[in-house]
Amino acid sequence: MCDHGGKVQPIPHQETVTIQGAPVLCLGDLVGAPVIGCPLASPTTKPCTTVLAPLPGSVSTSMFIQGMPVHVDSFTAATDGVPPATVIVEFAGQEIVQA
Ligand SMILES: [Zn+2]
Repeated sequence: MCDHGGKVQPIPHQETVTIQGAPVLCLGDLVGAPVIGCPLASPTTKPCTTVLAPLPGSVSTSMFIQGMPVHVDSFTAATDGVPPATVIVEFAGQEIVQA
């Protein structure tokens, strides 16, 4: 979700590795993903609609799926909202993945 409460809709590119039925998110699955329901609409602000680049510390340096680094619990990324905001994504259970 973004700072304002909008919800991120991830776009999984792989479904080989899942946690409790949900695909594990890798680098690229969240860049360009839509942000739904950000309330930041006014004449001087713009609601978040898209996830931009992940910020440092968002991907695993040790776990890869099909060559792509896995996003970690500390994932954060910028959005295209005005003023700029960041999104966080909750990865319930990701720590129990066995590579
Ligand atoms: Zn927002």
